[in-house]
Amino acid sequence: MAFAEGCEECRRISAAYEAATMDWFRLQGQLRVAEYSREAEASDKIVAELNAIAKRRQALREEIENHNLAAHPRTSAASKS
Ligand SMILES: [Zn+2]
Repeated sequence: MAFAEGCEECRRISAAYEAATMDWFRLQGQLRVAEYSREAEASDKIVAELNAIAKRRQALREEIENHNLAAHPRTSAASKS
């Protein structure tokens, strides 16, 4: 994803997106451990968290798109193709 340099909002959204991505990988690791140890209850909880993070990442992607359209129309037009 391309971000305009020096834009505080771009930096904020991309940092939140990166944090959500890190959470995603951390939970994937936990899920593997829980499944390996056959902890069904823990697995269910982790899967629910993964779903919540997937929604958060989707929302952040939309936020980035909307922000780019509003604040950086040239950047977003270039990245559309
Ligand atoms: Zn921006």
